[in-house]
Amino acid sequence: SQPPPPPLRGLIIGSPGSGKGTLSSRLLAAAPSIHYLSGGDLLRAHISQRTELGKQAEQVIRDGGLMPDETMMNMIRTELERQQSDEAAASSSTSAKMSTLLDGFPRTRRQAEMLDESLLRTGSDAGPPVNLVLHLDVPDDVVMSRILDRWIHEPSGRTYNDRFNPPKVKGHDDVTGEALVKRVDDSPETIKARLQSFRKSTQPMIDYYRRQSDEAQARAGAEAKPRPLYVCFTGTSSDEIWPRLREQVAMRFPGLFVEK
Ligand code: ATP
Ligand code: MG
Repeated sequence: SQPPPPPLRGLIIGSPGSGKGTLSSRLLAAAPSIHYLSGGDLLRAHISQRTELGKQAEQVIRDGGLMPDETMMNMIRTELERQQSDEAAASSSTSAKMSTLLDGFPRTRRQAEMLDESLLRTGSDAGPPVNLVLHLDVPDDVVMSRILDRWIHEPSGRTYNDRFNPPKVKGHDDVTGEALVKRVDDSPETIKARLQSFRKSTQPMIDYYRRQSDEAQARAGAEAKPRPLYVCFTGTSSDEIWPRLREQVAMRFPGLFVEK
């Protein structure tokens, strides 16, 4: 019999406000077995639960800076292991590797290297390395104005936008009806700092995956080229990017999608 297809080990990357959260939730609606983890959402959960990590994150996020690489890796690893053991308990099988999509992690080249090491490590949580990198490439002026119009439902991470994606009832979450809030870092001053740390720290991480992808393509030779690891989507709206992103994921991982 055929070996089972590898699980998705996907990353969604892009500047702040590029639509990572919005496109991830569309992807999850179409492919609900994917486990989704957002570094920023996890940090915001720590802040609202007032953990030690949350106290540190509160300051860093308010300034538009970056949390230490090791802290982020530990937090993500813990969460992935928790999801993996929940999944194993639910399906009474430990062999099934879950498909995952990470949003906002890695965010530096060092984090990407640590993630690769962690995924490749032998042991119960070992699995294939990152096998799809989705890069949302949206112009700065577009993300800037989006972020200023953005509202979030903090417990779920759902985001709304006054212009592109307004809630059904102004100021309230569509699902729970709870109040929407502004993120503390969605202010004009902080956005500048976040765009700067994107250029300085995250762009080298993107280059790292782009290079891996190019090298694998070159190694494969003319025949039997694998699909590239790295895919870039340039656009100014999530509606415009969504069909292209869906197609790229569906082409490689068709089993994840519940309907055509
Ligand atoms: P958006 O949610 O609009 O795409 P973003 O990517 O800037 O914007 P989050 O991913 O929610 O926002 O992250 C918010 C903040 O949390 C970041 O500005 C940073 O301070 C911190 N943070 C999140 N992920 C990481 C990470 N992997 N490494 C270091 N700091 C992080
Ligand atoms: Mg986000």
